[in-house]
Amino acid sequence: MIPYKHEPFTDFSQEANYNAYVEALNKVESYLGQDYPLIIGGERITTEDKIVSYNPAKKTEVIGRVSKASKDLAEKAMQAADETFKTWKKVDPAIRADVLFKAAAIIRRRKHEFSALLTKEAGKPWAEADADTAEAIDFMEYYGRQMLRIKDGQPVESRPGEYNRYDYIPLGIGIVISPWNFPFAIMAGTTVAALVTGNTVLLKPASTTPVVAYKFIEVLEEAGLPAGAVNFVPGSGAEVGDYLVDHPKTRFISFTGSRDVGLRINQRASVLNEGQIWIKRVIAEMGGKDTIVVDKEADLELAAQSIVKSAFGFSGQKCSACSRAVIVEDVYDQVVERVVELTNALTVGDPTDFSNFMATVIDQAAFNKITEYIEIGKGEGRLVAGGTADDSVGYFVQPTVFADVDSSARIMKEEIFGPVVAIAKAKDFDQAIDIANDTEYGLTGAVITKNRMNLEKAREEFHVGNLYFNRGCTGAIVGYQPFGGFNMSGTDSKAGGPDYLQLHMQAKTTSEML
Ligand code: NAD
Repeated sequence: MIPYKHEPFTDFSQEANYNAYVEALNKVESYLGQDYPLIIGGERITTEDKIVSYNPAKKTEVIGRVSKASKDLAEKAMQAADETFKTWKKVDPAIRADVLFKAAAIIRRRKHEFSALLTKEAGKPWAEADADTAEAIDFMEYYGRQMLRIKDGQPVESRPGEYNRYDYIPLGIGIVISPWNFPFAIMAGTTVAALVTGNTVLLKPASTTPVVAYKFIEVLEEAGLPAGAVNFVPGSGAEVGDYLVDHPKTRFISFTGSRDVGLRINQRASVLNEGQIWIKRVIAEMGGKDTIVVDKEADLELAAQSIVKSAFGFSGQKCSACSRAVIVEDVYDQVVERVVELTNALTVGDPTDFSNFMATVIDQAAFNKITEYIEIGKGEGRLVAGGTADDSVGYFVQPTVFADVDSSARIMKEEIFGPVVAIAKAKDFDQAIDIANDTEYGLTGAVITKNRMNLEKAREEFHVGNLYFNRGCTGAIVGYQPFGGFNMSGTDSKAGGPDYLQLHMQAKTTSEML
């Protein structure tokens, strides 16, 4: 087996790659507006009620109409998953891993088509879409190999005359609830982690990006996944989501999304329902309020570049996005000035045009929320870049920077999830770390400094799940920087890490007298 290596990003400066992406965009254009059914036990089911997926950059353009699960259909899917679990759990883990490797190969062949679909459905600029698809491939390659590593359990001691074993067995039915911001990578990663470990899945993708999820289920089918192992049940979070979370047959929930929905799921999952004979396990990866700290002894150009790229990549719609920068006073003015220059130079526009660094936010609700925060920011700091927005064609918000923000301001505390960064001044490095930690979240953070002692201080004191030194705070790679956060950022389940799969399994000890 070839050792795991992450999928390289595409170099679009090469003409062949550029042309391939344009062709892929054309291909996606050719199938826009189609209807997509639910998939339950392998059966295609079409409902009257539809979720309509729109292009956020051209809000009248329909990407697809996806059938919407009712409670009855969710129940049917639950039964299919329950039935299939009886056989899927017994399939050799190496065969389950092969399904992932085959799916990765199919996606690699259709890589640009998937990315182009993300450009249209989620408003991802080329490089962002390419990274999302690469990450989806990585999850399959990585989790497949991890499964092979743990399929025979872990070694335990045996006394003379005794044979002890420690094996992992699947949990049961998992509900996978995924967000729209990594509509491919997170949706696919959380789904295949649950499947390769022998569980069956009900996938409820985000309602703004259901088409890419449907296309992915088709790939899993083509790769040989048996009917009923994964069931595709898009629907309203409040209706179908609650029903699935509450269901007595649900064994675990793998959720990625906002803090409030994660807490709601965690609470509901703790309630014992009639017929339920286990404690549901909840894997919840939630929001962030991520900070880049700039020390006085630092490469200031690197600092400004890191802040701008981490704050505005995919319009700041990453749980890892830099939404706060804390800069030590000695270099504060210099860094702010450079951040403003770089921000003003960013190109914003339709994501199908390669030259645009940034495009839209996801939908009207996000647009409204972000522009409200920009108004709040005007009362809390000095607007030094951006601050304008236009939703006439698509949901465009200009990259926005507020300087001189107090550490207690709302824009320093609350997750905005858009292209808005708040900058605060600290008197020294210690105070900068204190400000960075002054949040209920704890997902990512970065420190820009040349001072080794300060790096070590941050390693100990900066309380985030993913801490980066002398680089930005986004862009974790599967198998290289396992990803997950502390406190209100979730259960720190570390997606793409060496112990992620075990969260989907339970360990069984057997002891035989020889
Ligand atoms: P969201 O919480 O609004 O939705 C996430 C999913 O939950 C969607 O599929 C949604 O339909 C579903 N949902 C909504 N209500 C539900 C309910 N009552 N029961 C069950 N499911 C329900 O989040 P979003 O807007 O899709 O994504 C953005 C959020 O996700 C941000 O807060 C971001 O920080 C976070 N996020 C975190 C990570 C991470 O790894 N920590 C990664 C990506 C995104």
